[in-house]
Amino acid sequence: MQFLYRRTKSIGYFVCRSLNGLVPHGFSTKLPLMGGRSPHEKILHQKQLFCEALKIDIHSLLPLQQTHGDKIFIVKEPIKQITPGEYDGAVTNSPHIALSILTADCLPILLYEKKTKIIGGIHAGWRGTSLGILQKALTSIEKDFNGNLKDCVILLGPSLMPCCFEIREDVLKILQKRLSFWQTVIHKVDSRLYFDLKLANIMQAKEMGVPQENIHSLNLCTFCNPGWFHSYRRDKTLNEKIISIISLS
Ligand SMILES: [Zn+2]
Repeated sequence: MQFLYRRTKSIGYFVCRSLNGLVPHGFSTKLPLMGGRSPHEKILHQKQLFCEALKIDIHSLLPLQQTHGDKIFIVKEPIKQITPGEYDGAVTNSPHIALSILTADCLPILLYEKKTKIIGGIHAGWRGTSLGILQKALTSIEKDFNGNLKDCVILLGPSLMPCCFEIREDVLKILQKRLSFWQTVIHKVDSRLYFDLKLANIMQAKEMGVPQENIHSLNLCTFCNPGWFHSYRRDKTLNEKIISIISLS
């Protein structure tokens, strides 16, 4: 297993062996549900707890309003001003900024380019994946930061797996149009269609030249593991999210 389970007080999370000790990072499991009344306040409190466990200042988290799009927030040193906006991913070389992604069945992806020291965080659902959001972040690492994708490590966090990611015909049509390899990542079981979200992102990363041995996937399905993770499809509540964080310092 490439991932280690860590527990700091009551906060449980997964870290990847390949980045362990190099950069603070993690994918949260179920966090204590307290503090605040609205879903927004509850999640803010959970972020606070997770940041404390990772020893990251919550104020250093880059504000992202995730919208299932494909826009990447690029933050380069020296930083002049940060304007919050609608982004589903971020890339930075700043040691003063931490990246956090919220998910509840979609795929959280954390990136680390080891030589140039660049980090990325991405929210990849079927929509973002069909738009190539991971490839956009990888392009930014190369073009905006002079990074090398051969030195890039990619961590795929907990998400819906093909066992539970049923899609409708309308989604199938979009994926067929946008993903050249759609036949590899969509399976038919009886008359139902299932999407392999992780494999789609792995294929996109490999297309760009990221070595297979640098791609690590935490193969736990959010829907199948109610003890570990929140799942929106299963629980139908907005009070909880999986929080994924990475920081250079
Ligand atoms: Zn499942």
